[in-house]
Parts: sequence; C-alpha cells; structure tokens
Amino acid sequence: MSNPIEFGDADILFTDVDDTLTTDGQLLPETYLALCQLAAAGIRIIPVTGGCAGWCDQIIRTWPVTAVIGEGGAFYAERTAPQTIRWHFWDDEATHRRDQQNILAAVAALKLDFEPRLATDQPFRFVDVAVDYNQQQALTPAQVASVHEALVAQGFNVRQSSIHLNIWLGDFDKSTMALRVGRELLGLDHPELQRRSVFIGDAPNDESMFRNFPRSIGVANIRKHLAVMTYRPQTIVSQRSGLGFVEMADAWLQQRAGSAQGQADTRLA
Ligand SMILES: [Mg+2]
Repeated sequence: MSNPIEFGDADILFTDVDDTLTTDGQLLPETYLALCQLAAAGIRIIPVTGGCAGWCDQIIRTWPVTAVIGEGGAFYAERTAPQTIRWHFWDDEATHRRDQQNILAAVAALKLDFEPRLATDQPFRFVDVAVDYNQQQALTPAQVASVHEALVAQGFNVRQSSIHLNIWLGDFDKSTMALRVGRELLGLDHPELQRRSVFIGDAPNDESMFRNFPRSIGVANIRKHLAVMTYRPQTIVSQRSGLGFVEMADAWLQQRAGSAQGQADTRLA
C-alpha cells in the first residue's frame, strides 16, 4: 500500500463494483471470500455501482451486503426480510420512469447519419438510459460526440463510461445517495457516517465518493486515471481490481483482530 491506511473503528464499507470487485469482468473466488469475511467480522457492506437495477437485484438477493446503490445513485435496494427487497428512489419512481421515457424518445428521435443503439441491458434499468458505443457497438469518437452533444443540448445529463453513454435527469450521484443511505438506513448523520466508513474504487466516476469519504482507497488500476481526477483516494493498494480489494480487506481484518486482542489484553491486565 502506498500509504498504510488507519481503519480505526470503521465498520461500514462502500465499494465500487466494476473493476474494483470484478477483475476483467469476473468476480474472483478470493474477492467474494473477502466480502464474506468482512461481513462476518461485522462490517456492513454497501456496493455503489453505475450498474443496472437487474444487476443490483442479483447483488442484494445473493451477496452478504446491507444495501446496494445502483445506476449511479438513482436508487438503493435493501433486503427487509429473507426474500423481500425494497427499492428506494432518489425522486419518486413515477418521476424517474417519466424522465426515462422522455430520454428514450429523445434518443429515438435523434437526427444523425447513423442510428445509435441502446445497451442490451436497457430493459433492466429503472432510471438510466444507456447508449452502447463500445460494448456490442463500435462508434467512432466523432459519432459518440455527436450523440453526447445532441442530448446535452436538450438538457439531459450525459456521462461516458468505458462502454456506454449514460443519460439521466436528476441531481443525484453516487455520494449523495451514499449519504442518504447513511441517514435513512443506518441512522447516521454525515460526519458520523464519514468517520465510520471506508470507500474503495477505481475510476473517475468514483470521484464524488473520494471527495465525501476521506478514508478512501484506490485499487492499483486507478493510477491510469489519476491525471484527470480532481478528487483522489487517500491511498492506493499495490494490486489491481479484485485482488486489490482482497489486499485492502486483509489489512482491515488484521487491524480489527489486532485491536480486539489489544482490548482483551487490557481487560486481563
Ligand atoms: Mg469501477
């Protein structure tokens, strides 16, 4: 680690998913084991992803997590009973659905010399609209720019990931929703949530989390993005993606074991 992190009495983990938990698109067994070990040690885990609602449904139902924030902060999901999921939207769901229909109509009405295609996971999105430019489609930079500019000119928010153009309406991001989850679900105000939380991520779309959560970590693959980032992690682990996550988890669990032993020694003395 570039700068050993002091986990203190932190007991909440916000984690990005793509290229932070996953490694070349796969969730490695050692990374999933690290998630389970953190949860077993009493750490509440909340993935924070730009991924679609369908992906979040799988995560909240099957992973050892307290909640999941999806579509870049548009909603979070919690499990209220073993088979019961509840979704909480940034605005009311009807507003988001209406906005999404308007964006879909605007994309369909674009007058360009080519036809932009939606991402194949569009049916699994509640809020976001994703135009594929580099997943199953291969648009040129000029084509990407023409879609981007046309939609911004109509007042939509547009952000470019490595594969999609994401288009939405609303003033949410990953960190505003993380702060709301802290308040609503964990009962913690902003300073207390910051004090007790760790965040780990890998990319410029994690900057709002690096800005709001001082105890923050980057996996090694974040280094290629640092030059364009205003808000950076406090420290960077030496390994990339899911193995970098394991490195962070091992350091945290060792510190927790050490402080538990210290408290036991104090009681015996
Ligand atoms: Mg990522």
